[in-house]
Amino acid sequence: MVGEKQRHVERGIRGIMQELMGNPYALETVYISVIVFAGQAQLFVPLTDVCMFSMPSLPVGSGTALAEGLKLLMRELDCSVTKTTRENKGDWKPIVFLFTDGIPTDNPDATIQKWRNEYANRATLVAVSIGEHANTQLLCRLTNNVLRLNKTDDASFSSFFSWVTASIEMSSASLESSGDGEARLPDASGINLEKVTESSSYKTKEDGLILLGQCAQKKEYYLLRFSDAEGSSGDFVLEQCYRIDKESYLALSGKQDVAQHVSSDRLYGKTGASYACPCCGNRVCLVFCGDCGKISCSDGHKAECPWCGNAGVLGTGGAIDVARAQG
Ligand SMILES: [Zn+2]
Ligand SMILES: [Zn+2]
Repeated sequence: MVGEKQRHVERGIRGIMQELMGNPYALETVYISVIVFAGQAQLFVPLTDVCMFSMPSLPVGSGTALAEGLKLLMRELDCSVTKTTRENKGDWKPIVFLFTDGIPTDNPDATIQKWRNEYANRATLVAVSIGEHANTQLLCRLTNNVLRLNKTDDASFSSFFSWVTASIEMSSASLESSGDGEARLPDASGINLEKVTESSSYKTKEDGLILLGQCAQKKEYYLLRFSDAEGSSGDFVLEQCYRIDKESYLALSGKQDVAQHVSSDRLYGKTGASYACPCCGNRVCLVFCGDCGKISCSDGHKAECPWCGNAGVLGTGGAIDVARAQG
């Protein structure tokens, strides 16, 4: 997840925390943990008391390794949640929200089976497709609670996160009274949240694409987000560039991404728009290396590829195979 959607999720989680801090039940009972996954999974915030929780900016990575995310979740359920034994009353059943907007780039079949067999009854899993591109069929194999946020504008996100907050509050309150049982989910009518079943369709083709660039001067990384050109011609139009943190990007991205390639003559900027490098302000952020096919920025005169050191001819056009970043 990158760009606006990611900022919405960050803001959403901060909003949830603020709300829970004002709720005496939640304050006493709720602990939060955040796992992120792209090409790899990371325990981003370990299980923390609500009042100690602070939400850093979410990292960005290439890939959607659902299996890795689930494996880490299962490990966390093993280590951080205390089971009830005959002698000890353990923790309450956790509620897990899985947010995803992409098609898995790994094969999660075996992991989903393991989840179903050994973990499904130990947590209430709510899977949420952000937009129409998550593989909801796959998510339905994980849990009966699969929802889709159809619109991803400000108002939809804000009402959606209020609903997530209400789910957490409801489950903490119901646990307070009954001490056990399945978390109940609040009514989702009135918000753009649709209950999805195994037979619901989803879009199998991602909109647009994301490419990785490196600043020729500062050697920092940035992402270039393209949308599909009108008329589904197979061309892409550059919409936005984001500067990203190189270290966390590398840490979260897949070690061996399945290379998806796109020809550089399919990539366009909008006429008259300016696309400066988000790291150094160089005039152009979309220059291809004729040697390695990777993208960097240029002031329009000097051109040395920061990826491979090639100082030869770099172009903004012509057909060069460019490796795609994933999800
Ligand atoms: Zn630059
Ligand atoms: Zn190069």
